Amino acid sequence: MAHALNPILFAIPVFFATIGIEALVAQWLGRNVYNLADAITSLQFGVLSQVTGLLTKALSVGIYIIIYSHFAVAHWPMGSVIAWVAALILYDFSYYWLHRMGHEVGILWAAHVVHHSSEYYNLTTALRQTSSGALLGWLFYLPMAIIGVPPVMFFAAGLIDLLYQYWVHTELIGKLGWIDNVLVTPSNHRVHHGLNDYCIDRNYGGILIIWDRLFGTFTPEHEGEKIIYGIRKPLHSYNPIWGNLHVYADLARASWRAKGLRNKLLSWFAPPAGWWGVPLAHFEAEHFSRFAAAKPTRTPLIALSLYTLIALLTLIFLGAGEGWQHRYQYAAALLIAVLTRITAAALTPPADAPHAPHDRSAHPNNPRA
Ligand SMILES: [Zn+2]
Ligand SMILES: [Zn+2]
Repeated sequence: MAHALNPILFAIPVFFATIGIEALVAQWLGRNVYNLADAITSLQFGVLSQVTGLLTKALSVGIYIIIYSHFAVAHWPMGSVIAWVAALILYDFSYYWLHRMGHEVGILWAAHVVHHSSEYYNLTTALRQTSSGALLGWLFYLPMAIIGVPPVMFFAAGLIDLLYQYWVHTELIGKLGWIDNVLVTPSNHRVHHGLNDYCIDRNYGGILIIWDRLFGTFTPEHEGEKIIYGIRKPLHSYNPIWGNLHVYADLARASWRAKGLRNKLLSWFAPPAGWWGVPLAHFEAEHFSRFAAAKPTRTPLIALSLYTLIALLTLIFLGAGEGWQHRYQYAAALLIAVLTRITAAALTPPADAPHAPHDRSAHPNNPRA
């Protein structure tokens, strides 16, 4: 496999610059859209996702290349603009279904939940990405390999689809008129991240929101109803490792408790709300309070310094790590993971600190978001 430089590396300066601009504009407008602990946590999820992404390339890249090389029924011409545009549209269509299943099937939700676990909605939320998406995500893109989309075209489409979604994670851009009905935009993607009843399982699109309109999952943002962000069964943690595992743990417990082999297996596929047909609990926004209300005293400097160290290590790892022996790759990934855990500890207020009430409106059986 060629050691091409990870293209995300080139986007990182743009990420940091735009996050800084968004935070400054928000402050200037007096909008409470950022929380330092939450933002650092989102960035840590991003780091872990990139680090595990390098380790799981055999799944995300390898399987596609193998299927394309052995089973493709055609080979799309790399020089054709139409082929490139068609590949991007096909990718976006496949992404719609992966994303939709990510909200409707427990085991896929266990991976995707990461992206929804912030209770803030800003550009750092876009970088709050899962570390386990590669485990099953590749399944949804196999048809593209079989019909002959060349790997380079496929990966470029995936990168464009991912990077496109960055800018829509902001509260600072309002409705955009007819564009909100065609493309994924800040307004319609805010709905996707909302806990409000009307927001659940809506607007799955990556670039085109047209898929949601076609398949009946589109809902525009309601005027006059403030969207509350997060997941119905809140994470309540700054630990990005636990943030990647908590729904898998829930599913394992549910499967353990289920009676009979059939139910034990089915419980991994049940929708996040529980079993099929369980009605969605009503979300009571007035009872919601965000995690992070307690102010840790020693936090900002320690956590920021640790995060800077993590970011530098990650840059080295992403830039050069692909050529390393596996044991060094795993050692570096482990070191970065341990540092994210220590940073999380620095962000978490001591147990005796006064906490804001965590009275969540979630129905215990209805942790869907
Ligand atoms: Zn989602
Ligand atoms: Zn999102």
